[in-house]
Amino acid sequence: KELIHKLEQTIQNIPDFPQPGIQFKDITPIFLNPKLYEEVIEDLANFSRGKVDAVCGIESRGYLFGIAIAVALEVPFILIRKKGKLPPPFVSEKYNLEYGTSEIEMREGQLKPGQRILIHDDLLATGGTTEAAARLVEKQGGIVSEFSFLIGLKDLNGAERLKKFNAEVYTVLEY
Ligand code: 5GP
Repeated sequence: KELIHKLEQTIQNIPDFPQPGIQFKDITPIFLNPKLYEEVIEDLANFSRGKVDAVCGIESRGYLFGIAIAVALEVPFILIRKKGKLPPPFVSEKYNLEYGTSEIEMREGQLKPGQRILIHDDLLATGGTTEAAARLVEKQGGIVSEFSFLIGLKDLNGAERLKKFNAEVYTVLEY
């Protein structure tokens, strides 16, 4: 596809960042090109159109496209934040990192029970963060119906890990 080609030309691969052996995908050049940004939003919004009642975006790069997807779909956008950023009342979910644990939070009452939810982030790696986000949604009675990402890193098998939620997984492009 034309869009995938344009994105491949735009996204920069930074070897050994933030640690040796990691191939970091820098998406920031996309925001220098408003037309390309619009095309990305249209592609992501088209995938979810008519199928979700709200979008949950994961801090912080999940906000860059997530809010625009929600606006395009005319549905609410709900922020999922890292621990300690939101005022109470909030709901939280712990998850395991490579070393230690982390926690994500959502403002209580923003997600309504029974809503079909799109969980969006910029990049799917191991799926650890996204899996915790899905549990946070389910804890509040939300139905995880879709996951979308700008980028999927195939070798890390994140999509496999998300299968237990019985939701569609969409990535604009894969590496
Ligand atoms: P996971 O939980 O799937 O292993 O990691 C996904 C999270 O890590 C996402 O929130 C994403 O923003 C971040 N991330 C990991 N690697 C990269 C990368 O190479 N580029 C970007 N932009 N984000 C990354």
